[in-house]
Amino acid sequence: MSATLLQGKNIATPLKESLKKEIEALKAKKGRAPRLVALQVGENPASAVYLKSQIKTAEALGIEYELKTLDGSTSQDGVLAEIDKLNKDEAVTGIIIQLPLPQGVDHRVIMSALDPAKDAEGMHPANLGRVLLGEPGPAPCTPVACMELIKSSGIKLRGVEAVIVGHSEIVGKPLSMMLLKEFATVSVCHIGTGERGLVPDYVKRAELLIVAVGKAGLIKGEWVKEGAIVVDVGINRVEGKLVGDVEFEEASKRAAQITPVPGGVGPLTVTMLMRNVVEAFKR
Ligand code: NAD
Repeated sequence: MSATLLQGKNIATPLKESLKKEIEALKAKKGRAPRLVALQVGENPASAVYLKSQIKTAEALGIEYELKTLDGSTSQDGVLAEIDKLNKDEAVTGIIIQLPLPQGVDHRVIMSALDPAKDAEGMHPANLGRVLLGEPGPAPCTPVACMELIKSSGIKLRGVEAVIVGHSEIVGKPLSMMLLKEFATVSVCHIGTGERGLVPDYVKRAELLIVAVGKAGLIKGEWVKEGAIVVDVGINRVEGKLVGDVEFEEASKRAAQITPVPGGVGPLTVTMLMRNVVEAFKR
């Protein structure tokens, strides 16, 4: 079998078109554009690529984008004071906290201080709670992007054997809740599964496999079940090239559909971020 590609742009392009139209109509009605503020503390080369893609997408859609950079030595209280200002500013529709934050600034404390209605990334505890309860609201962008790709594959989720490798708060955990909502049978593997050498056993039975670890080649192509749908969230730089966590060539021989890296989940994640901003603007 040779897998077909699950490309993010196939979903992102029409979605961006419809968001653009929606924003134009909202602008005409409200007399102003949605405004997204990204807050970073110190400058981070690690987040530069994601930032660039946020700026480009916001601009293309007609969302005002402002990057606020606080000095790298700003204390946690200083960051909280800035968030309080943004929460109260009626012209601000959405807020993104750029990671990583410097030592001494606790990500959890910062995310909890956001007005949940302005949480563009869907990572406020109240919004994560909504994901758990299966209620609408801003949801974490990467798992939503994964769900869109999975649905576009045409796979029937009810009762499907789904395996997620990676249990982070930003990808694996919320994704497991989203798949449970669709009545998939979900197994979540993590470092503990890896330490016991059990990851291959789980991967081998996955009809739907999602991997979000950040280790190139962790998932051997030969473990992938014939006909599986494979979503590779991992982004790793190997010899100057971006690759995922799954051995792509070998996995493509067995999977029915697979996301490329780059070009799979990544391009959709930022579109989902903008969708959260548009929804906040509507509310
Ligand atoms: P993380 O470091 O927070 O979590 C990694 C997870 O992998 C943990 O659950 C850990 O237990 C698990 N793990 C580590 N080693 C393992 C092993 N040997 N076997 C099994 N599980 C193991 O990472 P994250 O923030 O969730 O990101 C994961 C990857 O996804 C990274 O490459 C990141 O760059 C990428 N990512 C991509 C997007 C996107 O939009 N495309 C968004 C977020 C993250």
